[in-house]
Amino acid sequence: MSIVNVAIDGPAGAGKSTISRRVAKELGFIYVDTGALYRTVGLNVLRLSLDMNNADDVISTLDSVKVSLRFINGEQRVFLYDEDVSEAIRTPEASMAASAVSAVPAVRDFLFSLQQDIAAASNCIMDGRDIGTVVLPNAQVKIFLTASAEKRADRRFKELSEKGINESYENVLSDIIQRDYNDSHREIAPLKQADDAILVDTSDLDLEQSYEAVLNAIKERL
Ligand code: C5P
Repeated sequence: MSIVNVAIDGPAGAGKSTISRRVAKELGFIYVDTGALYRTVGLNVLRLSLDMNNADDVISTLDSVKVSLRFINGEQRVFLYDEDVSEAIRTPEASMAASAVSAVPAVRDFLFSLQQDIAAASNCIMDGRDIGTVVLPNAQVKIFLTASAEKRADRRFKELSEKGINESYENVLSDIIQRDYNDSHREIAPLKQADDAILVDTSDLDLEQSYEAVLNAIKERL
């Protein structure tokens, strides 16, 4: 049977990763979180004390940086050189750095084939911002998962609190609004729904209902 690719795109905090991970398990696919790649490039820029908003600074890191994904017991781990940074990339600073570096075309080029190679080799659910539009335009199923900014901030706030990361709700909401703006207004590969993507709005759905909606949409298409 040929390889099956499912692209799930949408703004920050729409539930993409939680839902994609579960759907992937259910279908026996691997789950690829492409945001982790941008976060890792961003984290590296932060660690080098460079200016994440300066494209030349960002580009100067690409010659030497090594970013890789490994799948350990089916779970994705992301590496910066030989260090597993899967947790270190989850801070609000790393989120902002990811959003900033992702607007640099050279960064997108740098990560492009890594994503395509994984999808060519395995049945996968790949989530991000431009998977259905740019990275996997031929994916058999495309989903655009979204929710209102307030609902998304609410969820992200709870998630951060549970991880012991202290951040006010107002800051989480303004980060989300800022990242939405950056992601949908950048010139290259902006966040937008692919023409052939199925829209799933989870504003009024709980996690279970969102999961069912996505799983059913995929099963219908396949
Ligand atoms: O999905 P996540 O919130 O972890 O992504 C972090 C940032 O990486 C996003 O705000 C976005 O700027 C960028 N990103 C991207 N393209 C992707 C995945 C993530 O530009 N495919």
